[in-house]
Amino acid sequence: MKINRRKFMSASVVGGVAAAGMQGSAYAQSETVEANYAKLDAVLAKPLFKSELFSDPVIIESVELLKYERKFICRVRSKDGAVGHSVSHNTMNLLYPTFVNRIQPVFIGQDARRLDRLLDKALEFAFNYRLGGLGIGIPLATVEFAILDMMGRIAGKPVGQLIGEVHNTHIPVYQATEWREKPVKESVALIKAAVEKSKAQAVKIKVGALMFMTKDLDARGPVGRTEEIIPLIRETFGPDMALYSDANGYYKDVNDAIRVGKLLQKYNYSYFEEPVFFDWLEGTKQVADALSIPIAGGEQQHSMHAFRWLLANGGLDVVQPDHFYFGGLIRSLKAAHMGAAMGKTCIPHLSGGLGYLYMLHLVSAMPNAGPHVEFKGYENIPIECQTSSLRLENGKIKVPTGPGIGVDIDPDWIKKYHLVQDV
Ligand SMILES: [Mg+2]
Repeated sequence: MKINRRKFMSASVVGGVAAAGMQGSAYAQSETVEANYAKLDAVLAKPLFKSELFSDPVIIESVELLKYERKFICRVRSKDGAVGHSVSHNTMNLLYPTFVNRIQPVFIGQDARRLDRLLDKALEFAFNYRLGGLGIGIPLATVEFAILDMMGRIAGKPVGQLIGEVHNTHIPVYQATEWREKPVKESVALIKAAVEKSKAQAVKIKVGALMFMTKDLDARGPVGRTEEIIPLIRETFGPDMALYSDANGYYKDVNDAIRVGKLLQKYNYSYFEEPVFFDWLEGTKQVADALSIPIAGGEQQHSMHAFRWLLANGGLDVVQPDHFYFGGLIRSLKAAHMGAAMGKTCIPHLSGGLGYLYMLHLVSAMPNAGPHVEFKGYENIPIECQTSSLRLENGKIKVPTGPGIGVDIDPDWIKKYHLVQDV
């Protein structure tokens, strides 16, 4: 069973199959885990930003946070006058004092070629790591995206080429869906309509409720609803549609998660996401060990070492960092590379503003991207892109190939923004 699960979503077979084949004794198993850690640590030790593309230092002269209504833009400038922008996540509305007081000072005056080190330094600065999760991740990602945009414009290269090799130029997406609070028939109709509209060639549905602390959302309770919708969605979309499922950490009992996982296996779903609460690493592994369906997770995860543990111990088959929450593209790509070292895939979680655009660049540089990545539609942000329609065509979106992020934000829209300071 375990071998099937691992092979299913493997982009390569480095480590994974070998690991499964060595479980004959406790000694062999622990030896394998140690070997896994050695591979993962080799990934973590390697900086990803290609400083060699820049012969001279690129000193960051200013980092500005700009605000208009509830939206935020970051603008970075080098001493030589190069400029980069990012559009932040809407949650920055809660976090901008952290950006101004805890992130800006780390980057101003520094050589942007040391970006990997600066990201680590930003987590150390003023005990920023204590802010955990998206509290520090979103501010950090916001400045990183702007710096990568600036560096790409200097080098004349898209972001993917600054942090890796371009492995994917057109990104297949799945349709993300919600509606777990609605009756089953209404949910299925809404899911069907969303897929028909986007023409995505894969879809993810919600199973269970939302996190273990929530009450049942349906009069029949999540057990009955989940058991009804899993086969119905398969019947609705037919045997060839790629189907994914997400419990959002709902199951507080491993046995409940395993029961649902077996149903997902029966109806040929391709992965089971967050079967138990995200920080319950042993529980996640217990579910993974009992099932053949690949286990996905990572959108809430802010710890690189938690990914490391889950991967080394066979608890995770699909790595899903959120590049805003997790603090940027470089940290997310490191999580993806750790997955690759174990023969696992990566399907980043998607959130916020231009999150989909940054996701395209991230996935472009992944050697182990999953068959479809997340897509949730667009927010109304005035950008122009010369190299991609940024629209779904034949189930795929083309990654922009222009320098930096590869889009220009309407300068008149930026003029509406004012500088955030002294907060
Ligand atoms: Mg999820």
